[in-house]
Amino acid sequence: MKIRYFDHAATTPVSSSVIEAMLPYFQIEYGNASSMYSLGRTSKKAIEEARKKVASNIGALPKEIYFTSCGSESDNLAIKGIAYANRQKGNHIITSKIEHPAVLNTCKTLESQGFEVTYLNVDEKGFIDLEELVDCIKPQTILISIMFANNEIGTIQNIKEIGMIAHKNNIIFHTDSVQAIGNIKIDVNEYNIDSLSISGHKFYAPKGIGALYVRDGISFEKIQDGGHQEKNKRAGTENVAEIVGLGKAIEEIYKEYEKYNNKLINLRDYYIEQIEKSNFTSKLNGDRKNRLPGNANFSFPRINAQELLLLLDEKGICASAGSACSTGNSEPSHVLTAIGLPKEFANGSLRVSFGKDNTKEDVDFLVKSLQEIIPTIQK
Ligand SMILES: *Cc1c(COP(=O)(O)O)cnc(C)c1O
Repeated sequence: MKIRYFDHAATTPVSSSVIEAMLPYFQIEYGNASSMYSLGRTSKKAIEEARKKVASNIGALPKEIYFTSCGSESDNLAIKGIAYANRQKGNHIITSKIEHPAVLNTCKTLESQGFEVTYLNVDEKGFIDLEELVDCIKPQTILISIMFANNEIGTIQNIKEIGMIAHKNNIIFHTDSVQAIGNIKIDVNEYNIDSLSISGHKFYAPKGIGALYVRDGISFEKIQDGGHQEKNKRAGTENVAEIVGLGKAIEEIYKEYEKYNNKLINLRDYYIEQIEKSNFTSKLNGDRKNRLPGNANFSFPRINAQELLLLLDEKGICASAGSACSTGNSEPSHVLTAIGLPKEFANGSLRVSFGKDNTKEDVDFLVKSLQEIIPTIQK
């Protein structure tokens, strides 16, 4: 059966050129980057080349990039690291209710360690209210962490303004931009970003490699003890091959940015149009305009998304639900709850996320399948 993959927000396949770029570093150039001999220096050089690529594609300096094991680690290192290093200035952090668990659970841990966290509400489209943000700021606020774009509903926040508010108040601004990298052109200076998380497997690099940008001059503490790798901020022998892969992937995706972006927007808007023309009720979640180019999240009333996913899977379609199935009961996700979706809609939400290999024919197949399945399972 042909597999049709519409879950690029969950992960992406590794592109062939990325694999090719990585291969020498497994068996030929396998030196430890900390070793003095030339085999080690080759690895070190490859890491520094990748660092330059990551930096130049987000308007940062190479020395502001730290390689990590994943997006989750980058979020942990940024938020905990900045919180610990600025503890003497204050203990208050502001984030939102629709963050990824990598941010939400990091904040929960910090709360248990004496930090105070404000979780901002979002409106029905998923935007935080900038006035509410300003109102929440206190003299002891040290960090604002707001995601660039939401992984479930695709909403892109007003990052420039949020960064401006943070800086006006002398607060550090971190953004989980894992979904935004490759999908949005980012310049950390233009967007007033002090710290930003990257994960390779969301843009055609392998799983298990991430990066963190932290603006030069901002202090943050390491959260893992060990060797002095990554300027003493991230202990552990560098994953040379995957670092090279991450560098290659970010370079590649931004090189073809216009083409890739237009393609995703066209597929997304075509899909949205076809679903809204269909013979069943649907509700598009998130904002129509300010949304990730490849994201379409619809709710269908009186449908169990888990059941829908199984029937789609029988047709070779991979997509995702906005609810986690726990003990047979599906509970709407924290994001769908935060945007205030009525329960009859929230349980039947389907996230489709397009990627560079999807075609219009794939979308036609998806639409036809939904038109077939949805009326039969609607209660
Ligand atoms: C995928 C994702 C993460 C986690 O990245 P991993 O590399 O899988 O740990 C964090 N934040 C967002 C918004 C994501 O989509």
